[in-house]
Amino acid sequence: RRDRAETFLTRPAVTNAGTAVRVQVNIADPSDVNSIDVSTCDGVGLMRTEFLFGKTLPDEETQYRAYRKVLEWAEDRPVTIRTVDAGGDKPVPGFTVEEGNPFLGLRGIRLSLARPEVFRVQIRALLRAAIHGNLKVMFPMIAVVDEYQRAAALFAEEKAALAARGVAQKMPPLGIMVEVPSVAIAPEAFAEVAFLSIGSNDLTQYVMAAARDNASVAHLNSIRHPAVLRLIASVAAFGRAQKIPVSLCGDAGGDPAAIPALIEAGLRDLSVVPAQLAMAKAAIADVSI
Ligand code: PEP
Ligand code: MG
Repeated sequence: RRDRAETFLTRPAVTNAGTAVRVQVNIADPSDVNSIDVSTCDGVGLMRTEFLFGKTLPDEETQYRAYRKVLEWAEDRPVTIRTVDAGGDKPVPGFTVEEGNPFLGLRGIRLSLARPEVFRVQIRALLRAAIHGNLKVMFPMIAVVDEYQRAAALFAEEKAALAARGVAQKMPPLGIMVEVPSVAIAPEAFAEVAFLSIGSNDLTQYVMAAARDNASVAHLNSIRHPAVLRLIASVAAFGRAQKIPVSLCGDAGGDPAAIPALIEAGLRDLSVVPAQLAMAKAAIADVSI
């Protein structure tokens, strides 16, 4: 199956009925792009930045260089960088807090807004990197629109401060992850965001109340449950109605067993781990939509 799939790698993804599907890649470390031929993908749908925050909190220059490297690699393709999603299954020493129930605690945007002095460093690095390519920025774990608005206000403040100092910068489009059920159930509160990216790993665990990292409940943690698919379809429909681009960047996007249901749900934009790029394109080619 993998040999057959490899023949799809260098071609744009299209269903056997001729529907184009955009396929981007998920990366974590900037060095991940070294082994990817940029012409085989439609850009970066998710760059997870919490791994830059591995041992210590990185300074602005370190972050700026990391983001710039990926933007330059992508040429004019879009690169969606996610602000730090620490907490939950991704503890960062010196940043995240000890909690009894970390998946429901101070993680993602909640932590960034609680520690603005840390968040502002990342924001400045992103604003400066934005001039080097087609950057988009998204916020993880958004539950209410107020979080998006507070984060966007910090971007506007830092942009003005950089401009006042004569530093080259640019405001990227700002979007959100759809991974908390409140957003997927009531997306109408988010009509002002530039784009939506469905995080099916977290969305599935929160809808099914089955942790993503617990093998004993893995049978419940399925994106193909109708409750999860119905939410994804309604987010896709909301995006079409409001002309807000909707993509999916959870691991299911690269799973050949899930891809037909995701396209059926109305998605035309997936982001997958680089190792699944060929398999995802091959699976798309088998779908008759
Ligand atoms: C997700 O939740 O689907 C997602 C892409 O984010 P992460 O896996 O980093 O939580
Ligand atoms: Mg997530």
